[in-house]
Amino acid sequence: MNLALTSKKIVIAHRGASGYLPEHTLPAKAMAYAMAADFLEQDIALTSDDIPVVIHDIHLDNTTNVAKVFPERKRNDGRYYVIDFTFEELLRLNVHERTNETTGQQVYPNRFPLGKSHFKIHSLAQEIELIQGLNQSTGNEIGVYVELKDPSFHRKEGKDISKIVLNLLKEYNYSKLDDTCVVQCFDKNELKRIRQELQCELFLVQLFEEPELIAEIPEFASYANGIGPWIGLLNDSKCIELAKKYQLKVHSFTLRKEELYGTSSFTALLKNILNFHNVDGVFADQPDIVVKFINNNH
Ligand code: CA
Repeated sequence: MNLALTSKKIVIAHRGASGYLPEHTLPAKAMAYAMAADFLEQDIALTSDDIPVVIHDIHLDNTTNVAKVFPERKRNDGRYYVIDFTFEELLRLNVHERTNETTGQQVYPNRFPLGKSHFKIHSLAQEIELIQGLNQSTGNEIGVYVELKDPSFHRKEGKDISKIVLNLLKEYNYSKLDDTCVVQCFDKNELKRIRQELQCELFLVQLFEEPELIAEIPEFASYANGIGPWIGLLNDSKCIELAKKYQLKVHSFTLRKEELYGTSSFTALLKNILNFHNVDGVFADQPDIVVKFINNNH
């Protein structure tokens, strides 16, 4: 699918089918794939041995049992960093449903029960191989939607996360605008660098969540193909107006049935975002519900 040209509304499985299984686990990705999401999302951090792994935080604290397995490996701030561990070490951890930093309770109590079953961390390469393997065995063409987490933190630690991830994507044949691969980032200087200095030709999406950044959409258009505004920003009509004016696709985050943003039901929220605001794509924790809504309404 050429994202720049398509008029189809796309569903990006946010951290996989994270509404049903622990985020960023391969089972959550396989489930999202089977739910016919158009893209599966990968958040990326680097290990000490430069392996891109699929995990939302640069810390391991809230989704793994790291404190139990490696109690002595926390930094002075009390946190365990992905970048302080080799990939092989990370494989010794179990992954669980996300917990609240202060209470230790799971963030969404009705989701997959905490500490049950068996989930592990995996690398970006392993996830791409799962998706490409399923693309071969099903005949579908589901894409990867990669977010580079905190490039400036990685740089301070002596690592160029963008270069490492783009090289890996290239190895798996993702390098051109119409390849089924998107690169997203909150760091605008880094995304600009990815386009201009690293000469990346992939579809790039500038994420943002602060209202004052709406005014910078024209600047985003100089290097990105799309924007990823937080859903709450869509109420400012300038956001979509500017995106349309500068021919940027809008992929908004995040739809989850646990958060209604002041609407009366999840269906009402879907109507608001997909019909009224008419965005081009959404990140969703329950991709099945959004896929069904789009199939019935568009
Ligand atoms: Ca993300």
